[in-house]
Amino acid sequence: MSHFARKAFEKLTKKAMPQVDYPQQWSIIIDGTATEIAIKYTRRNRSIGLKYQYDVWVIYCPQNAAPKKIHSMLASHHADLQAFIDRHSPKIQQRTQQETPPLQQGSEFQWLGQIRNIHLPIEQMESQLIAEAQEYLKPKVQFYAEQIQLFPKYIKVKNYQSCWGNCYHQRGLVQFNWKLLQAPQWVVDYVIVHELAHLQHPNHSRHFWALVNHHYPQTPQAKSYLKQHGSKMMAFL
Ligand SMILES: [Zn+2]
Repeated sequence: MSHFARKAFEKLTKKAMPQVDYPQQWSIIIDGTATEIAIKYTRRNRSIGLKYQYDVWVIYCPQNAAPKKIHSMLASHHADLQAFIDRHSPKIQQRTQQETPPLQQGSEFQWLGQIRNIHLPIEQMESQLIAEAQEYLKPKVQFYAEQIQLFPKYIKVKNYQSCWGNCYHQRGLVQFNWKLLQAPQWVVDYVIVHELAHLQHPNHSRHFWALVNHHYPQTPQAKSYLKQHGSKMMAFL
């Protein structure tokens, strides 16, 4: 979160209901990256609404709403909220893209810990990197599948705007964002373990994180790497 965003976040949460037993924020993990949602109780709101304001997602609730109810509602709509934020993130990503200098032939980028440069027109470069990502990820996923003893039926590599991976546990499908390969290998490994663990736990419960941490002890470091570098990686190409 930027300094400005943090300030805005503090301002928004400070005015919320004082001294409640429930935190005035809610954290949603959109595969690997935590997104904070501030919970604000206001007189003006009669129903519950979600807005993106000053770089922060905010849930507006009526002032007399019981925090317990709000929290259980957020928990039961976790997947919907994730989907909503994911759907609206492209617009936010575009803003980030506008702030980064345009890529051109010769621009350098990181790829699995190595420095590479764009030696093809952007579209061709993208297809080449997707193909490379596929080639790299498939055996890696197989390797970790053996370790964890959770085997996906299908492995796909896609272009996502706001997440690093995805798992449809019922179909046995795990998907990865090709842009993830701008991270070092050990960070990529974490995302692989994260998605495979969803084959057993289709949520971010305590049991899920215990499984991920067990098979990938560097999880906290990998998460903080993605938190720090994620938006720049996502804005690539
Ligand atoms: Zn996840």
